[in-house]
Amino acid sequence: MSQRTKILTQIVGFRGWIVVEHRWEGRGGARIEPVEGYDVPADARLVLVLSRRFTPRCAKCLAIGGTCHERQRPRRWADLPCSGHQVVIEYAPWRLSCHRCGARAVELLAWAEPYQRQSRRLQQHLALDAFSMPLVHVSTKWGLSWHTVRRAELDAIQRWDRNEPAPPLRQVGVDEKWLGRRHKRKEKFVTVVSNLETGVPVWIGYGRGSETLKSWLDALSFEQKAEIRLFACDMHEPFKKAIRDDSALAHAAIVHDPFHVIKRAGEAITELRRSIFFRAGPELREVGRGARWLVLRSWNHSSDEQRARLRLLFRLNGKLARAYQLVEELRAVLRAPDRKTLYDGIWRILRRTERRDNVPMRKLHESLKAHLDEIVALGEYHPPTGRIEALNNNWETLVRRGRGYRNHAYLLAKLRFITANPVRNSAGIKRFLALGLPTPLARAA
Ligand SMILES: [Zn+2]
Repeated sequence: MSQRTKILTQIVGFRGWIVVEHRWEGRGGARIEPVEGYDVPADARLVLVLSRRFTPRCAKCLAIGGTCHERQRPRRWADLPCSGHQVVIEYAPWRLSCHRCGARAVELLAWAEPYQRQSRRLQQHLALDAFSMPLVHVSTKWGLSWHTVRRAELDAIQRWDRNEPAPPLRQVGVDEKWLGRRHKRKEKFVTVVSNLETGVPVWIGYGRGSETLKSWLDALSFEQKAEIRLFACDMHEPFKKAIRDDSALAHAAIVHDPFHVIKRAGEAITELRRSIFFRAGPELREVGRGARWLVLRSWNHSSDEQRARLRLLFRLNGKLARAYQLVEELRAVLRAPDRKTLYDGIWRILRRTERRDNVPMRKLHESLKAHLDEIVALGEYHPPTGRIEALNNNWETLVRRGRGYRNHAYLLAKLRFITANPVRNSAGIKRFLALGLPTPLARAA
């Protein structure tokens, strides 16, 4: 091995394969000889010809050995670019006749899945980019077509999904989501069912009625239903009805998660704020401008500046101040450690909202009272609800970009994927790029 091929082999880094030849090509595939030995045009493509060093492996059963059934012609795979140059891997794979499983399939390759024309690591990078960039940006950046990027992304996601163990479904989150305004479907909402313990969605159906949830429940086996201990849903009556109508789910508890209870209280505050400012004088209007998010945020999460604005706002309007304080109290009550404390706390709030002569607070009172059982059950079950918010954020990212309306399976796969694989630091990226690799190849990525 010459010094040059040794370095190239080290850079390429597929264990068991070496670079035996490299050459430069122009756009049309014509060979380029570097001027003075090193001067290469900026758009030249680097072709690396690989050769296997050891016995081949069966791609079906991973057995080592097998006899050569057919030597195929050299094939090419697009790989990650190097110093701005496109890189292409060239290799002539064998079609093996496996001794163990009898399959006649193309040998296992360290860099790509069968039938793919990009290396696995390139596909993972495409999927990572498609995470946060429009597909047009991704395809332009990598010099690939839109369809190639889309397919590569889906392949990477499905590879992950195939290798992902399915955890048991014991705590179920049911949530309705708005589809956004840019789609042309009849239904404006979807119902998302997720596993609360992992936070990963398991099912998506169009519509938000009880039939939608029922169609999912009907697909479950008796054993699966027996395993479910808890449903956490928003304060939406049809979901409750679908669950209660199913006799196999009589043992399962229904709770309303704090996120949605607070959201309901936030709606009441928003309505109250609107009615106050509707008839407000110029002074109050000036303070209240853009206060919509201010009054929805908890005191703990507000900055000093925001707190100062809130204080000013509340000094001018006592009604709003009392409502805000009530929601703060509700927030604290929902964190109660047991059923009894939560029950007492909710009643303390209900006694105060009951007397309210203002309509929004009265409506909040009615809906808290109507869902009392499910809210109080929170104190007993404590579902892991932080994940619901993560799912919400991911959903909004997807919908804002108008992705996946046409392809239902893609929408679910992508939502599952981005919820299960958050990228927040370098460890997240590393985990992401190694997703779904079969074990003997884990080092190959
Ligand atoms: Zn085999």
